[in-house]
Amino acid sequence: MKIALITGGSRGIGRAIVLKLTEMNYHVLINYCTGEAAAKETLSLIEQMGGTGELMPFDVSSQESIENALEIWYKNNAESHIEVLINNAGIRQDALLMWMKNEEWNDVMNTNMNSVFYITRRLIKDMLIKKYGRIVNVVSLSGIKGLPGQVNYSAAKSGVIGMTKALAQEVGKKNVTVNAVAPGYIKTDMTKDLDENMLKAMIPVGRFGTATEVAEVVGFLASDKASYVTGEIISVNGGIYT
Ligand code: NDP
Repeated sequence: MKIALITGGSRGIGRAIVLKLTEMNYHVLINYCTGEAAAKETLSLIEQMGGTGELMPFDVSSQESIENALEIWYKNNAESHIEVLINNAGIRQDALLMWMKNEEWNDVMNTNMNSVFYITRRLIKDMLIKKYGRIVNVVSLSGIKGLPGQVNYSAAKSGVIGMTKALAQEVGKKNVTVNAVAPGYIKTDMTKDLDENMLKAMIPVGRFGTATEVAEVVGFLASDKASYVTGEIISVNGGIYT
C-alpha cells in the first residue's frame, strides 16, 4: 500500500491535494487540528472515489503533539512506509510588525515553519532507509516576495523555502526529492476576507486560483515522473511576477 501524509488535509488546498493523491492510488493520512467535521467529509469524498484513507489529528504547532501522533502511527503500522509527505497546514495572522503580538509571531512560526522541521525529521528516516520519498512543502508568494502585514508569515514561508533547498541537497542521492509549491491568491477559507475584485487587477490571469489548480502541481511533484526535479520552488499564482 502506497501511503501519503497531508498536513492540514481536511479542507482548502489540503483537501484538494488529498483527492489528487487518492486519484494517484495513495492511502491518505488526513491530518487536521480541530476541524473534525471537515476531515470526515474529506474522508467520505475519498471513499466515494473508491480510495482509502484515515484521519490523523494532531496539532502541527506543537512538537509534542506531532511526535506522539507519529510514534503511535508507526507503532501500529510497523511494516508501513509513508513515501509522500505534503507539509501543507498553515495559518496567517496578519498585523503590521510594529503592532504584532508575540503570540502572532510564535503561532505563525510554529504552525507554518517549525512543524515542517519536526514532521519531516521523523518521516525522512524511513524514506532514506527505503531509498524513496517525495516531500512537497506548500509555501507562498508571500515567502518569495514578502508582503506587508505578513512579516511573520513571510518569514515562516521563506524559512521553509530555505529548508526545501538545503534538504534537497542532503537527500538527493537517496532518491528522495524535496520541492515546494508557492500559491498566490487561492479561493479557500484563508482568503475569504480578501477583496478578490480589487486584488485580481494585479493578477495577469485575472482571477484567484482554485485549490485544485495547486493540487495538480503538487501531484506532479509527488509522483515518480518528477524524479529529476528537486530543490525547486514552483509558483502557482496566475502569473504574478516574483
Ligand atoms: P485553510 O485555512 O483553508 O486550511 C488550513 C488547513 O490547515 C486546515 O486543514 C486546518 O485544519 C489545517 N491546520 C491549521 N492549523 C493547524 C494545526 N495547528 N495543526 C494541524 N492542522 C492545522 O488554508 P489553505 O488551504 O488556504 O492553505 C493551505 C496552505 O497553503 C497553507 O500552508 C497556506 O499558508 C498556503 N497558502 C494558501 C494561499 C491561499 O491563497 N489560500 C496562498 C499561499 C499559500 P483545522 O481546520 O483542523 O485547523
